[in-house]
Amino acid sequence: MGFPEQQQQVPGIQSKMDPVPDCGENSYRGSGKLTGKAAVVTGADSGIGRAVAIAYAREGADVLISYLDEHDDAKEVADLVTAAGQRAVLVSGDLSDPAHCRAVIDKAVEEFGTVDVLVSNAAFQMSHDDITEISDEEFAYTFALNVGAYFHLVKAALPHMRPGSSIIGSSSVNSDMPSPTLAPYAATKAAIANFSASLAQMLGEKGIRVNSVAPGPIWTPLIPSTFPTEKVSKFGDDTPLGRAGQPAELAPAYVLLAADDGSYISGARIAVTGGRPIL
Ligand code: NAD
Ligand code: MG
Repeated sequence: MGFPEQQQQVPGIQSKMDPVPDCGENSYRGSGKLTGKAAVVTGADSGIGRAVAIAYAREGADVLISYLDEHDDAKEVADLVTAAGQRAVLVSGDLSDPAHCRAVIDKAVEEFGTVDVLVSNAAFQMSHDDITEISDEEFAYTFALNVGAYFHLVKAALPHMRPGSSIIGSSSVNSDMPSPTLAPYAATKAAIANFSASLAQMLGEKGIRVNSVAPGPIWTPLIPSTFPTEKVSKFGDDTPLGRAGQPAELAPAYVLLAADDGSYISGARIAVTGGRPIL
């Protein structure tokens, strides 16, 4: 097991990783579980969001691909969505700005007429050994992106979501067992799970389901761009399954939560952690 030592700048480029993460490009097979739905997926250029976008398209959904600025990665995903016979809409920009969150939803409504599935998945983290290393700006940015964007996306999308719609937040195993070197990030991931549980109760009467997914260590650009190289090479080794997960291994959970198959699943947090327990 283990990965070659490697390092990238935030936000990291998927195609520069060794090995390139497996997002299901050559393996995911759909069976019409999301036929006719329109999905918004943030951070959909790479990693888990890319795996979700590919799976959703192969299940029959049109996909708005929101990402920061990794244009080549995002174009590859758009081509995969189109190859699945679905519409792909690319929107780059900074989701820590509430106005951009509203613009993403406006674009989805303009293109698709509705939002049936909203996946709030974009996030920032950075390793620090000491709290004094964390600037005020970085702390505020981490919350604005990871938690703030979730709030602003949901608020903007709700008027366009019909009964049967689904909202999914990307949480983390870090919310129960926080790595001290990721303290602000871990706190945002706990907030996402908690906020999802509130929304599930608030939106049940509208027929809208809300859940979160808690990934364990997954091989994505987030890892070589935010962890020191020695942690990158051992990433995931200490899970019960003895390895990091690939983004493709997250897709089934996100499909279940988005699809009508999951019609009574709301307020849940699904662990995809390679055996690490969550609370
Ligand atoms: P990733 O780097 O592939 O995806 C994160 C994406 O967020 C990036 O592609 C980028 O386009 C987007 N993004 C970053 N800053 C942004 C900004 N300011 N505005 C708009 N978009 C921005 O990494 P990933 O690991 O697939 O992360 C996806 C989600 O999974 C995150 O919420 C992360 O916290 C969660 N997660 C990942 C792991 C893991 O081990 N990789 C573990 C638990 C949870
Ligand atoms: Mg990316």
